[in-house]
Amino acid sequence: MFTVLAALAALLHATGVAAPRAEAADEWNPPSTLVQPLNEVWNHVSATYPDLYGFRNYGWDQVMANRGSINYCVRWESDAPVSTALRDRIHTALKKQFAKWMAAQTENGRAYNNWPYTTVPVNIVGWAVKNRSTLQWTDTSVDVYTNVLDSAGAPQCAPDCGRFFHQDGNYSRCPGGTARHYDQSLWLTKGFQGGAGGDWGQRVGQEYFTSALGQEDIHIYLHEVGHTFGLDDFYDWTPTGQCCFLMNAGTATRITDFDKWMLRDFWRHLKSRYGL
Ligand SMILES: [Zn+2]
Repeated sequence: MFTVLAALAALLHATGVAAPRAEAADEWNPPSTLVQPLNEVWNHVSATYPDLYGFRNYGWDQVMANRGSINYCVRWESDAPVSTALRDRIHTALKKQFAKWMAAQTENGRAYNNWPYTTVPVNIVGWAVKNRSTLQWTDTSVDVYTNVLDSAGAPQCAPDCGRFFHQDGNYSRCPGGTARHYDQSLWLTKGFQGGAGGDWGQRVGQEYFTSALGQEDIHIYLHEVGHTFGLDDFYDWTPTGQCCFLMNAGTATRITDFDKWMLRDFWRHLKSRYGL
């Protein structure tokens, strides 16, 4: 069957007839120099991820569940005061940085390889903190959770509202319902070095993030968002010809072309679960 289809596609190209729609939907045209290293990455992911295709809470799944947006909770694990202005700068930076990854999934303003969304708006719906007085604003633009602590004593938004805890999308116990649920947490921890990321969100140092608000690329955060969308670390190997890219921690401070194509490759392999 594959041979027949391949022959048909070749014939269509040879005769100048427009390629079938299904082929266009499966567009895959990385630069030739990246083909081999991308294949190496996918083979490595396939061999080492314990539940690569069964896991259904990648960032991809969250965006699809929301039909094109992401909701965030900010976990302020610090006693440093947050003015209204600082809160708003954090929101602006979070939206701008997250958008960088989503832009990598577009090509000339068009979503690549049947990804349905050219932009993915970020809504920050809540903040979590131990003491309400740490947050200096009085408006009600976000839900504020005080003294909702995780098992390690860190402030978190209500689990009833969290995607991590309700991957079936049922937020009936969340006071604000689905509209005020959160998919990911931006967890800002005083004194925390480095970063962590996953389907639950991203964790970086509070001092790091607030001091990096003016940077074009808040690269530790960006690296961790890569994990949210399924991308791997490169602690013990590097793909052929690739030394320096965001997901190879410490070798790049922005999303490189190779990072972009790894992101696209992940979607390419995942999208069939959505019939795309
Ligand atoms: Zn990492």
